[in-house]
Amino acid sequence: MTITIVLRNVKTVKGTAVDILLKNKKIVDIVPSGTGIGENIIDYQHKVFISSGWIDMHVHAFPEFYPYGDVIDEVGYKTGVTTIIDAGSTGADRLPDLVDSCINAKTNVFAFLNISQIGLQRIDELANLNWLNEEKLKKTIVEYKDFIIGLKARISNSVVGSNGIEPLKIARRFSSDTGLPLMVHIGSGPPGMNEILDLLEKKDIITHYLNGKANNLFDQAGQPLPKLLQAIERGVHLDVGHGTASFSFKTAEIAKQGNIPFDTISTDIYRNNRLNGPVYNMANVLTKFLYLGYSLTEVIDAVTIHAAEWLNKPELGRISVGDIANLTIFSVEDEAISLIDSEGAVREAKQKIDVKGVVINGEFIEC
Ligand SMILES: [Zn+2]
Repeated sequence: MTITIVLRNVKTVKGTAVDILLKNKKIVDIVPSGTGIGENIIDYQHKVFISSGWIDMHVHAFPEFYPYGDVIDEVGYKTGVTTIIDAGSTGADRLPDLVDSCINAKTNVFAFLNISQIGLQRIDELANLNWLNEEKLKKTIVEYKDFIIGLKARISNSVVGSNGIEPLKIARRFSSDTGLPLMVHIGSGPPGMNEILDLLEKKDIITHYLNGKANNLFDQAGQPLPKLLQAIERGVHLDVGHGTASFSFKTAEIAKQGNIPFDTISTDIYRNNRLNGPVYNMANVLTKFLYLGYSLTEVIDAVTIHAAEWLNKPELGRISVGDIANLTIFSVEDEAISLIDSEGAVREAKQKIDVKGVVINGEFIEC
């Protein structure tokens, strides 16, 4: 027999005060604040917000790989994120092992399959075209079709070596053959940004879109590249993918001025940038966007509704009676905090987001 848990006096991001009732893993009722009845009442006294569980579109959660690896729950529910998307840590060789490692985790996991069969076993995984094994890729996609939600291609110089744009052309072909969209990592060239943008289609994702490297999406004068505007027009999504080296306050300020907003905010978290910064956790990354002047709704929608829509899993982006409960409980504190970007630039903010707890597949856990 299960009991009813009442999350009492919580606010939605739009400011509505409610009680949310949970039973048998599901949201069973949403009632005016203070009126929910149940065996276990947790009263938040109007001090916290509640949203559907946060979704991080770009993490590295395969523990065996170094440097880009971590433990699923360490980057998942323990930081308020109830669903993670592993962004190509594994290719066809090791994806089955990533799937196996989910058995011991509470966090919901999906993955972009690296187009290189070796994945991030090496960090120049596209430097040898023999590693782009089409047969193995397609077999893996068929076998793990509910787990794999897209393909990952890291298109920057240290990854592709002398192969230039060729791995992205192959990725494009894999994408049209399998029907899976691409998440493309950008960074230092060659290949150059215009060459990359030309190959992206509707529903593809550019991750690291606010990086401060020379080969980025804005020209010397801070204007968005015309080909970026065309890509957005075609339906290409922009994802933050903060990471150790890929979030610049300067670029983020240019993007905001130029009205080039994110579709999704993700961390690109793994052991080193979780423990030593500049990522730390999703709340810290979201705090940076509040600092930049985006509203709380814009920021939280980027890790809930927008991510869930892209995933074609609307239930992960809403709070709705009858759904399995995946929720994030957090506060916005009026507290000074120093924020650091990937270039070492520091900004002093006056507000920060703090995670208080999660409900993950119906289980309430305080953080
Ligand atoms: Zn990454």
